[in-house]
Amino acid sequence: MLPFKLVYSDAYYLPIGNHVFPAEKYRRVRDRLITTGVADANDFLEPQPATDQDILLVHKPDYVQKLKTGTLSPREEMEMEIPYSRDLVEAFWLAAGGSILAARQALADKVSISIGGGFHHAFPDHGEGFCMIHDVAVAIRRMQRDDKIRTAMTVDCDVHQGNGTAAIFAGTRTASALLPSSSVSTVERPANAPQGKIRGAHAGDVFTISLHQHNNYPVYKPPSSIDVDLPDGIGDDDYLAWLDNALSSGLRQFEPDLLCYVAGADPYKDDQLGGLELTIDGLKKRDRLVFQVARARNIPVMVTYAGGYAKNIEDTVTIHSNTVIAAKEVFAG
Ligand SMILES: [Zn+2]
Repeated sequence: MLPFKLVYSDAYYLPIGNHVFPAEKYRRVRDRLITTGVADANDFLEPQPATDQDILLVHKPDYVQKLKTGTLSPREEMEMEIPYSRDLVEAFWLAAGGSILAARQALADKVSISIGGGFHHAFPDHGEGFCMIHDVAVAIRRMQRDDKIRTAMTVDCDVHQGNGTAAIFAGTRTASALLPSSSVSTVERPANAPQGKIRGAHAGDVFTISLHQHNNYPVYKPPSSIDVDLPDGIGDDDYLAWLDNALSSGLRQFEPDLLCYVAGADPYKDDQLGGLELTIDGLKKRDRLVFQVARARNIPVMVTYAGGYAKNIEDTVTIHSNTVIAAKEVFAG
């Protein structure tokens, strides 16, 4: 039995047909965790869908109305890059409910992982890049509304920049003497690391960190609190050094009540939509690093999965399953 809860439902499956996004990965991760004895049935909690009220904490009423009535324009549907259906709307409301549950469990148990979610390309007024609803932002806003947390930090390690996250939390930033003022980030380039670029500024109640491949979707990257624009082809050691520096810098500037880790599997070297060169072992070290930092500072951490498009789906399942194993190794001791 795990010392924390996993959040999962068979209805996390996204009904999008034959698509580069492997919608069956969630069920396959769950099955792998059980057949390999990492987890048992009692470790899983079944989420409820988010309410419309929860979704409206992040998304614009016009957009939510279009989703609920099936009245997106052809252009809006094309931008989402997944085929609209009522069932798909339900799957995204459930993903948001799963992230809310994982956030709540993380506050109770120090860590919780939703075997789904991480739809970081969804904006308040539109969806894009396979993302309809920003489940992580909904969870953060719900925890704040319930007075469970005041501040949060997102750590997005998907190979694609968290543009929706940056846009959502930029729009609500307010100047406050109690919070770090807007300033250029102080992240330093790790010794001997290849040329990458750090950009950053922050003022607000949610601090956003994104490590991503610079030459990749989205073309326009709205500023996160810290962006690490990685060059093509970066490998394990350099990536881990950049991540370590970004986490240290972020946590020097900001004290989150909750850390939201977006554990994308697509920085993997055999990913179809990514151009970095991380190994399966390197990705597990990445997960361990995030968990070790959170544990050392006593910051609860909730995890979502985001992307993963390995040529062989078994690799994506292994990378996502390893995130649970890494959490077990770090939090069991
Ligand atoms: Zn991605």
